[in-house]
Amino acid sequence: MSKTYVPAQLRRKIIERANRCCEYCLRPELFSLSIHEVDHVIAEKHGGTTTEDNLALACKLCNTYKGSDIASIDPETDEITPLYNPRRDRWQEHFQLKEAELIPLTAQARTTIRLLQLNRSSILKERPLWLVSGLIYIPD
Ligand SMILES: [Zn+2]
Repeated sequence: MSKTYVPAQLRRKIIERANRCCEYCLRPELFSLSIHEVDHVIAEKHGGTTTEDNLALACKLCNTYKGSDIASIDPETDEITPLYNPRRDRWQEHFQLKEAELIPLTAQARTTIRLLQLNRSSILKERPLWLVSGLIYIPD
């Protein structure tokens, strides 16, 4: 989350790269009440830059839950664990989609799912609609 101005051209690139879907919960922007936001994966206060390789598209809720965090507590091991980084990490190595639920394959994924509440009950009700819409984008 950042208030830093992201130039329009860069913003467009981030939106297109993500196919207008949140890179954390996968929500297509069309299924959101507010427009998706450009997230600094590594927040500026931790040295992250406003460049393509540090920006991700996030829905307002994911961006709010994430804030400027870059790590959290793994609910299984209680260890401080980095969050999933959509620029450095391959989605398929960290997550699996089982019907509407995100299944974590790694500690990073577990930690991210908990912090961003990616399997909260409201999302589990909505994600099937995103899937049938054909608008959802599942990253590689
Ligand atoms: Zn989201």
